[in-house]
Amino acid sequence: LLQDQQYLVPLPAETLDGHRFTLRANLELVEELDLLQKYGAEGIGLFRTEVLFLMRGPLNVSEDYQLHLYRQIVERVKPAPTTFRLLDLGGDKMLPVAHREHNPFLGWRGLRVLLDKAELLLPQLRALLRASAYGPVRLLVPMVTTLDEFRQFLDVLHAVKAELRAQGEVFDESVPVGIMVEVPAVALMADLFAEEVDFFSIGTNDLTQYTLAVDRGNDLVARRYEALHPAVLRLIKGTIDAGHRHGIPVSLCGELAGDPQATPILAGLGLDEFSAAPPYLPEVKRVIRAMQLSEAQALASQALQARTAGEVVALVNTWLREHG
Ligand code: PEP
Ligand code: MG
Repeated sequence: LLQDQQYLVPLPAETLDGHRFTLRANLELVEELDLLQKYGAEGIGLFRTEVLFLMRGPLNVSEDYQLHLYRQIVERVKPAPTTFRLLDLGGDKMLPVAHREHNPFLGWRGLRVLLDKAELLLPQLRALLRASAYGPVRLLVPMVTTLDEFRQFLDVLHAVKAELRAQGEVFDESVPVGIMVEVPAVALMADLFAEEVDFFSIGTNDLTQYTLAVDRGNDLVARRYEALHPAVLRLIKGTIDAGHRHGIPVSLCGELAGDPQATPILAGLGLDEFSAAPPYLPEVKRVIRAMQLSEAQALASQALQARTAGEVVALVNTWLREHG
């Protein structure tokens, strides 16, 4: 934490005209929990549970061991919520069974794996629901593409709840269920998904790679991975608007949430919650506290009309010089 950012930690993420945003942390390890207080995060917006599994091997993580970890986390984070993302295996993350694919990012990933592998999904859902007895838990489903597969997931969730109820286990009956918006099809259909979920979390790391057809981890095309491309901003905008029309909060948990260059645009688009690696939060908060919401809104609508990512970057750099 930089010396000159220390003063920001206890302050709210509020614009000059009093509009408040929520800043939450992206975490992967129980050992990182101290960072919430250190950097002033209001709970966890993304806990990537696959990291717990990858260290042990996905099939060696029992329900009880998971409950032990999840319970420690929610007890430390409460009264703020912990958003646990269900296992997001595949893509660039090791799969539970040795498996080769030509296009792993378009392959067996995230929810697709979970729906095929009950031995992964059921113990994790049971452990997360049981952990919800100890503090607020939100469930976040990774790599959703279609309403059909999301509904299939909900069927499993309802069955697991019924089973826990029958066994006399205590859990939060109304645990919120959200989805990662990281496949363009979901952003384009956000109005329909918004009727069936409790919150959205936009995953711009994947949304950008799928929208621009640029592998997020390939150096040969790294300069074509344009995080502020207007096509991506339009999908973010559509997702936020659809969420708000249906009264659900919209978070963003890709790297963009921690990039101060993106902050005024995201705030101006109406994002409710920024979730990023904790060290990035103070600077995002500083930018928010230096602006009027209406100025950010004006910037965001210009950015949506831009023709190239370069134009967006030029707009925002000028804006930051004037409002920094
Ligand atoms: C994302 O895709 O933006 C995201 C937050 O998920 P991950 O980086 O774990 O794929
Ligand atoms: Mg992702």
